[in-house]
Amino acid sequence: TFLHKVRKEIIGINAKVPLIDGQKVRYINFDNAASTPSFRRVAYKVKEFLTWYSNVHRGTGFKSQISTEIYDEVHNLVADFFGANKDDNTIIFVKNTTEAINKLSNSLHLSYRDIVITTPMEHHSNLLPWRDKCKVIYSNLDKEGRLDLDDLEKKLKRYRRRIKLVAISGASNVTGYINPIHKIARLVHQYDSKILIDAAQLAPHRPIDMKENSNPEHIDYLVFSAHKMYAPFGTGVLIGAKDTFAENKPDYTGGGTVKAVTLKDVIWGDLPDKEEAGTPNIVGALALGESIKMINELKWLKIIKNEEFLLNYTLKELEKIDEVILYGSMGSGELSERVGVIPFNIKGLENTLVASILANEFGIGVRNGCFCAHPYIHHLFGLSDEEIARVKDDIAKGIYTHKYGLIRVSFGCYNSPSEVDHLIYAIKDIIARKNAGVDLTNDYKFDK
Ligand code: PMP
Repeated sequence: TFLHKVRKEIIGINAKVPLIDGQKVRYINFDNAASTPSFRRVAYKVKEFLTWYSNVHRGTGFKSQISTEIYDEVHNLVADFFGANKDDNTIIFVKNTTEAINKLSNSLHLSYRDIVITTPMEHHSNLLPWRDKCKVIYSNLDKEGRLDLDDLEKKLKRYRRRIKLVAISGASNVTGYINPIHKIARLVHQYDSKILIDAAQLAPHRPIDMKENSNPEHIDYLVFSAHKMYAPFGTGVLIGAKDTFAENKPDYTGGGTVKAVTLKDVIWGDLPDKEEAGTPNIVGALALGESIKMINELKWLKIIKNEEFLLNYTLKELEKIDEVILYGSMGSGELSERVGVIPFNIKGLENTLVASILANEFGIGVRNGCFCAHPYIHHLFGLSDEEIARVKDDIAKGIYTHKYGLIRVSFGCYNSPSEVDHLIYAIKDIIARKNAGVDLTNDYKFDK
């Protein structure tokens, strides 16, 4: 079966972790939105490559030629995976999504007259890079945290001439909501603007087709991170129109960025070299290439089917439990799609406490807190401006950090229904003990 095949491919799937009582159990990882474990094939490929370890684009040595070929080939593989036309677009390798968005924000020559429209549902990495470079306008969300497309259109119409970019997440790392990226792209292009999709969360869960530039639904810029796609840390990608970067001085200068240098001047290199200063992460690129091949082999239809089953099954089980507060909704129409991310709380228990009990009593890894999306959490809690200001002050004073926080379960392509059963069992057990008046506080730290 699919799960049997994919689970054999994941490193660490049988890793045992120690519990508070000294038992060792198989770790269940429900924190894939932070980072995914690696495919076994990726690790194998990296190990094999170490024999040929050598720099790229430097000299004509046999090993260097191999490195160069692999590195360039992965750029092409990424372009094909996202349907990016290689004549129009450049594929720039950076270290992560955050760096990719910063690079784009440096490349657009924004001024205080320019407007970037983004949303309160973004990860901080798609909020902060825009802030000090131009005027930022936020498209409204509904109460449940979904994008208000009518408001987006209103703002596009109103500020039309000043809008340089609409920067929006493909899927939320908090609620899992998928934005209808092509519908939004059509709207954005209607008003002569461009669109960036932060695909850090969408890329591991759905196929993305950037489409030809002549198509009104095409995506102008796309960014994502390899560490959320079953490859290791250290590789991110920015895909975008060559025009955007062609005339720019690179944001980092130095080796690898040039064609010629004299003591007085410089001729910058071609894309993407110009934007990939210094020795690149060749091993990371190779790893990403291998994970993309593996995802293609596993087939999207099967990946999505498994994930949708887990999402619906888990939501159904959690809805049955009175003490569980679920955030977000299933939405409707084009706003009904959602990747396998579930944010929740247990009434009367701090999210940090619940997450630590799940980890140290049940061997279940989830994430809790605000997920680098503080404004979105404020929105989901329905906080007023005064309350938000108070939260900010309290955090600055170190009073508390996670009073308004959530627990997040996020699925990878290898998670199974029996792992969900264990989670539901654990949640019910925690609630039963809470209701029986048992003191659940613990300050257990793993002895690593
Ligand atoms: N955007 C979204 C939607 C994310 O989920 C993340 C990672 N949590 C990022 C951006 C940032 O990715 P990275 O940490 O790899 O730069």
